Amino acid sequence: MACVSSVRRGTTWGVSMPSKPCKKAGCAVLVRDGSGYCAEHQQVKQDREAAANATDPFYCTARWQRLRNYKRKVNPLCEPCLVKGIVKGVQMVDHTIPIKKGGRPLDLSNLKSMCNECHATKTANDKMR
Ligand SMILES: [Zn+2]
Ligand SMILES: [Zn+2]
Repeated sequence: MACVSSVRRGTTWGVSMPSKPCKKAGCAVLVRDGSGYCAEHQQVKQDREAAANATDPFYCTARWQRLRNYKRKVNPLCEPCLVKGIVKGVQMVDHTIPIKKGGRPLDLSNLKSMCNECHATKTANDKMR
C-alpha cells in the first residue's frame, strides 16, 4: 500500500443519494455515495485506475526505472516461460511479492522478468488468494 497514492473520498452516508447497485459485475450491493462501487470493490476500481493511468509514483522514480532496466539486461527472457522451456523476451518486470503485500520494491531478488501473458496469469492468481 505504501506506494499507491489512493485518495479515498469521504463517504457521504446519511446524505440522501439514490442507491445504485455496485458497478462491479455480479455484485448487488447498493451504493449510495455516488462512487459507483461498494466498499469491497472500491479497491478494484482504484487498482484499475492505478493500472490504467500508471499514477503510482513509485514506478515513475528514477531508482525503479534504473533497477528495472538493469533487471531486463540481466534477465532478458521471461522467467516463468523459461522454466517451461519457452524462450520469450521480457515485456515487463514484476515484483514477485507485490509491494502491497510487503514485498521490497527495490530488491533485485524480488523482481521477475515476465512476458505480458505470464504477468496476467500471476496477477489473476494473486487476486484469488
Ligand atoms: Zn461491489
Ligand atoms: Zn512468459
